[in-house]
Amino acid sequence: MAVEVKPATTSGTTWVYMAEDAPAADRDLLGGKGAGLAAMTQAGLPVPPAFTITTAACNAFQSANKEFPQGLWEQTLASLHKLEAKSGRKLGDSANPLLVSVRSGARESMPGMMDTVLNLGLNDDTVAGLARQTNNERFAWDAYRRFVGMFGRIVLGVSGEKIDHAFDSAKSRAGAKQDTDLNADQLRDVTRELKELVQRETGSPFPTDVLQQLELAIKAVFNSWMGKRAVDYRNQFKIPHDLGTAVSVVTMVFGNMGDDSGTGVAFTRDPSTGKREIFGEFLPNAQGEDVVAGIRTPISISKMRELWPEVYRQFEQIADRLEKTYKDVQDLEFTVERGKLYMLQTRNAKRTGKAAVVTAVDMVNEGLITREEALKRIQPMHVQQILVPQFDPESRRKVGEPIGRGLAASPGAAVGKVVFDPDRSAELAGKGEPVILTRRETSPEDFHGMAPAAGILTSRGGSSSHAAVVARQMGKPCIAGAEEIDIDVARQTLSADGTTLHEGDWISLDGTTGEVFAGRISTIEPDLKLETELLTLLGWADETRTLGIWANADTPEEGTRARAWGATGIGLVRTEHMFRQEGRPPFVQQMILAAPEARLARLDEEAESTARAEGKTPPTIDPAVVEQRRRARREYLSTLDTLRGFQVGDFYGILKAMDGLPVVIRLIDPPLHEFLPKHEKLLEDITAARAKGQSGPELEEKERIFQAVSRLHEQNPMLGLRGCRLGILFPEIVEMQVAAIAQAAARLKKEGLNPIPEIMVPLVGTRNEMALERERLEGVVKDVFASEGVQVSYKFGACMELPRACLVAGQIAETAEFFSYGTNDLTQTTYGYSRDDAEGKFLGEYLKEKVLPFNPFESIDREGVGELVRIGIERGRKQRASLEVGICGEQGGDPASIAFCHEVGMNYVSCSPGRIPVARLAAAQAALGITPTDR
Ligand code: PEP
Ligand code: MG
Repeated sequence: MAVEVKPATTSGTTWVYMAEDAPAADRDLLGGKGAGLAAMTQAGLPVPPAFTITTAACNAFQSANKEFPQGLWEQTLASLHKLEAKSGRKLGDSANPLLVSVRSGARESMPGMMDTVLNLGLNDDTVAGLARQTNNERFAWDAYRRFVGMFGRIVLGVSGEKIDHAFDSAKSRAGAKQDTDLNADQLRDVTRELKELVQRETGSPFPTDVLQQLELAIKAVFNSWMGKRAVDYRNQFKIPHDLGTAVSVVTMVFGNMGDDSGTGVAFTRDPSTGKREIFGEFLPNAQGEDVVAGIRTPISISKMRELWPEVYRQFEQIADRLEKTYKDVQDLEFTVERGKLYMLQTRNAKRTGKAAVVTAVDMVNEGLITREEALKRIQPMHVQQILVPQFDPESRRKVGEPIGRGLAASPGAAVGKVVFDPDRSAELAGKGEPVILTRRETSPEDFHGMAPAAGILTSRGGSSSHAAVVARQMGKPCIAGAEEIDIDVARQTLSADGTTLHEGDWISLDGTTGEVFAGRISTIEPDLKLETELLTLLGWADETRTLGIWANADTPEEGTRARAWGATGIGLVRTEHMFRQEGRPPFVQQMILAAPEARLARLDEEAESTARAEGKTPPTIDPAVVEQRRRARREYLSTLDTLRGFQVGDFYGILKAMDGLPVVIRLIDPPLHEFLPKHEKLLEDITAARAKGQSGPELEEKERIFQAVSRLHEQNPMLGLRGCRLGILFPEIVEMQVAAIAQAAARLKKEGLNPIPEIMVPLVGTRNEMALERERLEGVVKDVFASEGVQVSYKFGACMELPRACLVAGQIAETAEFFSYGTNDLTQTTYGYSRDDAEGKFLGEYLKEKVLPFNPFESIDREGVGELVRIGIERGRKQRASLEVGICGEQGGDPASIAFCHEVGMNYVSCSPGRIPVARLAAAQAALGITPTDR
């Protein structure tokens, strides 16, 4: 036998372990499969003799230009000899051949992502030996043809299609329908043809040297670690790329030796429901690859109990034992060879969120694990999965591949008819039609079409884009920034991957994965009340966590929902959302149009009274101008009065829904132009009307609005007249809001309830801004309580959204009783990335190219933004020890950010209602010191 045996050098490193001697607990070194084989062997379970080449060897191989490290091959041969001694067979021996499988297995299980070669050791000599050994010539040739096909494809890189085609044409020549219809002679011919195919494709004969086969197969498995499939999978599941795969070489046992043989996979509990019973499937008279490749349809494992009761009982006992050993649900592979059971693999099972929660809680009740362990084990994603509608797997399968993908911006499955226009969305949804609102991006004016939609799809924008934030808060599935989908709102079409959808066509979104499907997939609804195990688990989480979990909510309905999910406060009411409710925009517009002149009227009055006080002559102003300004001011104040009426109702509702719990109400924040029609649209309308020679009050009104919009226009509105700057320039607006809050609170108090309002000033950057706002507004609160004759406790605080605010936090805390970190803006202002544009323009590329390791709008940037937060808390609390601190940016619902918030000593995190259960778990995990990996 011509074998290239490398010089026998010993490197001092152990690269290869026999299963009976391996450090079974070291999954890092042995990979999951190697560790499982070692543990089962050492526990005396029926496992075929095996050895494992370590992950360290794989890494050494990768970094040494794909050469085996010193000593590896010699150790492999030495282990092979031990294997031969144990099995009483010899690799390459024509009389009594040993066959092995060469299996991949990394620390983290990556099902199907790497390669495995079965039946290694066959050639024209050994096939005869196998036939004699098994007394089954057909079996031997079947094994050989399988090996040539598999080795050809996996190790030698011959196209799988060509191999399948060669096999299929041989089958049709032989008139065989099933693989099993081919007899020994026919299989011999197929094997020859396959070898010829390999020679044609690779230019070299099929390797008959069994040690060469082994060497090549080990290298192929090492190489599959860096294969595209595996790399993509690791990227998706955030598995590090430097773990490497181990390679286990296992004595072949055969499930295809007749009707008393078979092969199967099973879970110790149902991996989709968590039900406590063995769940799995098996195939009589088959090899494992038949199950994996779907060549034959396996049957339920319960049938095995009927067929082979003895074997089944043994299997059940082993399953139970393995579960108790690993204290987790096991995913098992086994083979029955002529009535004898062999265990080939055990690993912790992948499972759905539902199964993860059910099994963790059950295992606590069974005394197998502690509550703490159960909390540690559940991934935040698991909880999320349970609480959103999901696709019915059966229906999902039928629809096939997605037509496109975007950011998984708000989880859950949504199905409906495509609409491109928010008015149309509202109209169709009003008739009871499920709709998916599809836009390039959404803006606040689209809200009326977003609220009734089943889901939202945008081709631009990121995870803190308008669509994403609003959808999450409403608990609505959303996919944002699906750039590969062309949304043409003018033509009313959506095209992707060769498919074009029009208004009314069915579309299905999976907001949990970001996948978009053409067609209608049925969904399954969750019901928290029925999720008893989840409720139990979250109860344990509540006992463990120290962080409060509050919600971002703008309506009583959202507040009630948040409470039902377990929120113990509202951390952000964005009051401007209330201005956009039905019937209010005309008043808001009126207020904005009158505001600038009303302000001048106020300044006139102030100048006059100052002059009089100083004994000077007041400035002279044209009386017509004065009158016009006064008129504007009267209109302004009366509109504000109307709006106050609305706002009292709004605040009454939300404070009532949250009776006894704190509600942080943020004063108006966005630039005023956001409440007016778009500049370009007005210009277009006015030009068109003029061109048609139209005139009259309607056009005049449009022109008036146009002028106001032009006046309000700013190059950079996010850094412009917004936040507390608005309140300082137009105090009447925020005074109106604060009066409404106080009136609502007073009313509730009189009704015997316990409202706890906390008034938040947005975008504070200086000591004076906070001090001035508090001074002015606290006066309003006191006046209302005095005239109502009640006292309600309240707080004033700052929304911390500017780096400067964090640096001068001590000064701000002189008058702020709480800080709430608005990390959407704080991220924007710290990085200098526009939160509305960055994700669509360059952030995607930055993430792809790893310029940024993660999206800071999704998960807090500890080093920069986080450092500012930390500094702000320290300086703020130094000034005011009782300072209450929370977060209300989108990162507040992200597990990794929640861990950070815990570490820096915040009092609570506030997130959209749908993320509350996840946040409860994440806060408990933070308290247990677990770092979430799913960032
Ligand atoms: C923030 O900036 O993080 C915040 C909560 O405010 P908004 O998203 O409304 O700007
Ligand atoms: Mg903000």
